[in-house]
Amino acid sequence: MDANGEAESGGEDGVRLVASISTDGSFMRRACPACGLHFKTEASPEQFSSILQPIVARATRDYGLSTSVDGEDEHEAADLRCPYCGEVIPAAEAHTAETYAYARHLIYREIVMPMIRNAFGGLGNTRSSFVSFTYHKGTLPPRPIHGPEPPDMLEANFLCCGKKAKLLPQWLGTVTCPFCGSPTVTW
Ligand SMILES: [Zn+2]
Ligand SMILES: [Zn+2]
Repeated sequence: MDANGEAESGGEDGVRLVASISTDGSFMRRACPACGLHFKTEASPEQFSSILQPIVARATRDYGLSTSVDGEDEHEAADLRCPYCGEVIPAAEAHTAETYAYARHLIYREIVMPMIRNAFGGLGNTRSSFVSFTYHKGTLPPRPIHGPEPPDMLEANFLCCGKKAKLLPQWLGTVTCPFCGSPTVTW
């Protein structure tokens, strides 16, 4: 899961974007937008890409582009709970600043820059009576890379949901299950 993202031709749908993130085994780093603390949720490799879909869609909208995302309704439960402050967080917003920056760079590299290149592609060297304009196509910047994700934090089992998360070892307060909100953690 730590290869670079890439875009492929997707036929009439335009560009098929492949985003890949670095993970800590089966754990993906998340962040609570309320308290700012990080935790990790467990997911299968198939789920990782669906977890990324809302954030990629959000980054795409940031550039004023409208895209449809495959399987948008397959992503994880709509809300998570912060294990530390207990805040209900829309799952699509429980991403770290790094993951969001990666999504934005990926959209820019794979969609926005090729659009600009295509828009100017036929221009080459253009002359009018007022301006002389030369467009140098150049090469695209390297694909952005996400991670690496260190294998930090402590694994916690939430028996209420039969799911695992990883939490900050220095956290001494009560813990809330990120999936259902119960305080039933075992370390
Ligand atoms: Zn929080
Ligand atoms: Zn639970």
